[in-house]
Amino acid sequence: MSKTKAEIKAEVCAAIDRRADEIIDISKRILAHPELGFSEFDTARLVADAFSEMGLQSRTGLARTGVKTRLNGRKSGPTVGILGELDAIITRDSPVVDPATGAAHGCGHNAQIASMIGAGMGLQAVMQYLDGDVVLFAVPAEECIQIEERLALKDEGEIEFLVGKPELIRLGEFDDIDMITITHTPHGMDDSHASVGDTHNGSLIKRIKFTGITAHAGSFPSKGINALKAAMLGIAAIDAQREKFREEDTVRVSPIITKGGDGTSSVPADVRIETMIRARTVEAMQQASEIVDRSMRAGALAIGATVEIETVGGYLPNNPDKNLIKLQYDNCAAVVGEAHMGPARQQTGSTDVGDVGFMMPVVHPRSGGTEGSPHSRDYYVRDHVLAAVNPAKSMAMLAVDLLFDDAAEAKRVIAEAGPKLDREGYLALRRSFDRKETFPEPA
Ligand SMILES: [Zn+2]
Ligand SMILES: [Zn+2]
Repeated sequence: MSKTKAEIKAEVCAAIDRRADEIIDISKRILAHPELGFSEFDTARLVADAFSEMGLQSRTGLARTGVKTRLNGRKSGPTVGILGELDAIITRDSPVVDPATGAAHGCGHNAQIASMIGAGMGLQAVMQYLDGDVVLFAVPAEECIQIEERLALKDEGEIEFLVGKPELIRLGEFDDIDMITITHTPHGMDDSHASVGDTHNGSLIKRIKFTGITAHAGSFPSKGINALKAAMLGIAAIDAQREKFREEDTVRVSPIITKGGDGTSSVPADVRIETMIRARTVEAMQQASEIVDRSMRAGALAIGATVEIETVGGYLPNNPDKNLIKLQYDNCAAVVGEAHMGPARQQTGSTDVGDVGFMMPVVHPRSGGTEGSPHSRDYYVRDHVLAAVNPAKSMAMLAVDLLFDDAAEAKRVIAEAGPKLDREGYLALRRSFDRKETFPEPA
């Protein structure tokens, strides 16, 4: 028996409506138990349990906590990935904080996981009409936080990259997926219920250490080399070059001094800076990175100090696929109503969905239903229908569009997406950011 695409979508939405209470309950349970990236063990168990209640086998422990399952269509074809992120952030003053860890779902990932599972509940009812597969994938560590802890995991060989999706790509866990959608809640500063098509900055992280020479700050300051002055000159040199950053590259360089010295009685000889560098393109990321490096060298040179600069990749810029944007937009508008659709924006924050986008077409819709502004103390998911149930429908409907009728739309999306990197090419690009230098070079 064949059905029209409209009938299949109606069945998907009816199935999701029947299970809306379960989807909302998942979102609320995760909100009440936030866990930080690469340690989302209880959240991962909740996802694996939900899959098994749906009669699905899943693979667990992917990049430590990822959980992945597959819904098979009536014949093989392209695979559409529907993702949700497992991790929380640290916002100690949040009303939904776990006081023991400081973790809170200040980015709404609780609703993402619920919408991913909800989309699966809807699609299970109709996979016999679709000509390709759907992968449901809970992924770890989207937020780039706890840098020291993650660099320690890297040193132990537990992970190579500091965020989850690059790590999953490295492990080959995106090799069996052809395109992805994922709905992120904090969609902006208006009260719309959905938007589609945001682009995001990419980012690099630097750890910088200035080394000088200690001396009595009162009696013999002339015998010292002041590492704090070198660091301050370095930061001033960045600021002196901010007009080198073009408006269209939306560059953000945000250094902090994490150690300013050891005691006021000695000339500071060990001073540390961390900074994030964000920009809209890989080229602009590299140019800003070079300006920061040059500035740090200048500070060291002026004072006669030494500087060590360690650079690691954060995220690649996110540029969603034009065809997926159109298809996802129509489905979001069908669910929330055209009048409730908001505009797409260039977001100067970052997401590792951008990394996946270098390998395959991606789309990253936004939903409403949240209170406050993201990553702040007053932010949380208030309306789980807007934030979890509606996105479940719009992502599942996108999968129907893509896989209906011999997966013609999915094949068109792949054909028109333009060149993408394979895993080796992606890893080579990512690893090209990672380096350490000492200036002046040791003799
Ligand atoms: Zn976030
Ligand atoms: Zn987020």
